[in-house]
Amino acid sequence: MPKECIRVSVKNGMGILTLDSHDYNTLSSSVILELGSKFQTLEENSEVKIILVTGHPKPFFSAGADAKEILGMIRGGDGQAAKEAIKLLQEVYWRIDNSEKPTVAAINGYCLGGGLELALACDFRVASREALLGLPEVDLGIIPGLGGTQRLPRLIGLKNAARIALGGKKAITNAVLAKEFGLVDGVVEGDFIAGVKSFVADLLNGNAVRRTVINENETLDERLYLSDERIKALVAEKAESATRMVFRALNEGFKVSLKDGLEIERSLFLEQAFSPDGLEGITAFVEKRIPRFKTMQPVEAKPDPISENRNSTEDLSEEYAMLRQTLRKFGENEVRPKIEKMENEGNISPDIMAKIAELGLCGVPFSETYGGAGLGKTGQCIMAEELGRAHASLAVLVGASVGLAGGALALFGTEVQKQKYLRAIAEGKAIGAFALTEAEAGSDVANLSSTAEKRGDKWVINGTKQFISNGDIADIIIIFAKTDQYLGANGISAFIIEKGYSGLKTTKVEHKMGIRASRTTSMEFTDMAVSAGNMLGQLGQGFKIALNVLNYGRLSLAAGCLGASKRAFELAYAFASQRSQMGKKLLEFQLIQEALAIMRSHIFLMEQSVYNVAAMADRGEDIRLESAIVKLTASEMSEWDIRKALQIHGGLGYLDEYEISRMLRDSIINTIFEGTNEIQKLLIFKETFKNAGKI
Ligand SMILES: Cc1cc2nc3c(=O)[nH]c(=O)nc-3n(C[C@H](O)[C@H](O)[C@H](O)COP(=O)(O)OP(=O)(O)OC[C@H]3O[C@@H](n4cnc5c(N)ncnc54)[C@H](O)[C@@H]3O)c2cc1C
Repeated sequence: MPKECIRVSVKNGMGILTLDSHDYNTLSSSVILELGSKFQTLEENSEVKIILVTGHPKPFFSAGADAKEILGMIRGGDGQAAKEAIKLLQEVYWRIDNSEKPTVAAINGYCLGGGLELALACDFRVASREALLGLPEVDLGIIPGLGGTQRLPRLIGLKNAARIALGGKKAITNAVLAKEFGLVDGVVEGDFIAGVKSFVADLLNGNAVRRTVINENETLDERLYLSDERIKALVAEKAESATRMVFRALNEGFKVSLKDGLEIERSLFLEQAFSPDGLEGITAFVEKRIPRFKTMQPVEAKPDPISENRNSTEDLSEEYAMLRQTLRKFGENEVRPKIEKMENEGNISPDIMAKIAELGLCGVPFSETYGGAGLGKTGQCIMAEELGRAHASLAVLVGASVGLAGGALALFGTEVQKQKYLRAIAEGKAIGAFALTEAEAGSDVANLSSTAEKRGDKWVINGTKQFISNGDIADIIIIFAKTDQYLGANGISAFIIEKGYSGLKTTKVEHKMGIRASRTTSMEFTDMAVSAGNMLGQLGQGFKIALNVLNYGRLSLAAGCLGASKRAFELAYAFASQRSQMGKKLLEFQLIQEALAIMRSHIFLMEQSVYNVAAMADRGEDIRLESAIVKLTASEMSEWDIRKALQIHGGLGYLDEYEISRMLRDSIINTIFEGTNEIQKLLIFKETFKNAGKI
């Protein structure tokens, strides 16, 4: 008798099907058929009000279909038999999909391929925080065959579905992000069973689950979509035939009914599985080797006039839009309610940092090789803008960690340093800091007094830094010290140090007029030994590193100013719309209208310049002039906008309890740090006139 792989239990009106096949809860055809018949027994059981499908043992819900079985089917070469078999399996999922009883997939861990397709056939999905969801078929040269390309777009929209189905392993997503775009309906923190029970109780009590509204007329133009830089990166190295087949299944199936869509998917699945790439991909997977495919050729994108000249977030690609949406929700729902407490306590609360890590935000600009999201400087600017809109102190914490420390490692780190330190920052496991400024070296960066002396295979560092953001909470700190007293700027080197190094002490914590929840401290190094392997870049390259990193830092700072201006505009407009004087709403006075019109113009100019410079940076162009320009102009425009917004609030704006008063205090620092605005003017002049003033 074959081993039973699915356990059935009935408790308190809940019928539970627990997948417990060997290894990864693989879904072979016999397991799926067993699932179908056991599902039917629960459907027929009048005690059962709701049916749950889950996996055991942790951490697998199900890692997907049985690759060896698919390989056997392809090698067997009987297309007709394969068609019948897939049809039978699709019917099991169809039965679950069409059950009269509500169905819930309780996703306790990896939920991949056929496992995710099973979860998609259920009415609801609740996942543990550790769960990971994705459709890796395309990496194996095949496409999903159990409804993945059909149910996914109907749940989360065609664009999001395309990203997951085309991205394969690269697009595997965690539960928190999956919830953001509607792939799961609930995420359980801590005790999974208790969390699932409470999710089910909510459902049975009629508490509806909110779903994203899907545009049913959406289509994707293959040429345009696959030529997008981000999508090109996502599909790089995948079999061209499988990529295009996934695309067809999504696009063609989305236009018709689900039933017809499943039929389209079935025939495309078989066509692809029986193709040379299908055979090669599955064989390579089973043999645990890298497949040899004709991979996706980069599609040459024609310049797109809209994305070249972005006016609004709608012009940005879908991944950026998702990032913005996630950040906006996070800012409004989770950060804003805690700002007052954090400002009073003088730090960012650990649960906000934990959520940032969980959402993968610390990795936004970095390559996937180091745990990042690969969204480049444009992604970093979106993040800085949204954090700047929500809470300046938080934007400074993340900016110093991700932009400055992470940026320095990404630009100049060795492979070993990047895997160790950049990855820790990108994954939100470590906070970074960038320690350049000293008492006598502010604008005059080259005038450092800290020294690093080579003793054996170590560098021994002595000195004092001041005004270091994240100084006392950082785990990884990039510091700058003189390795040669006689070489001026060329005698500075950079080092990576870790919290807890002997000889490192955080001294004064500053009390500031603004960004009060951001930590600003002094640091002392007394005979602090650093291994030679922790020098960042080459000997004497420190000055160059600092300037390069600050070029990008200034760009994100400008993006933060843009976010703050947008928020100030929003507050000013709301206030002017409800406050009346002299028998009229403030909004009806032309002087108020003028202020709002200028603010709106500033926002437009900042948005244009920031994202244009970000695009230049993403194309690898030199931005030293442009980043100085956007830092200078955005910080001054934003300070003006916030000041005006406060003025529109009248006396109330001057009160601590009004957000706009904190925003004004917070805005001043933008004209001072990362190089004062006077220094930016010197830099802009120098860069412009080095070529005899030609522009
Ligand atoms: C809250 C906060 C956080 C910070 N975070 C960090 C951090 O994380 N890491 C870090 O390394 N540093 C950090 N700094 C330091 C910051 O970058 C410096 O304060 C800034 O660069 C200015 O240096 P300074 O304060 O020594 O001013 P100074 O250089 O003494 O300047 C004083 C004034 O003189 C002007 N000035 C200077 N030189 C010239 C010139 N040649 N021509 C015309 N005007 C000039 C300046 O523009 C300024 O107006 C932070 C500072 C603050 C306040």
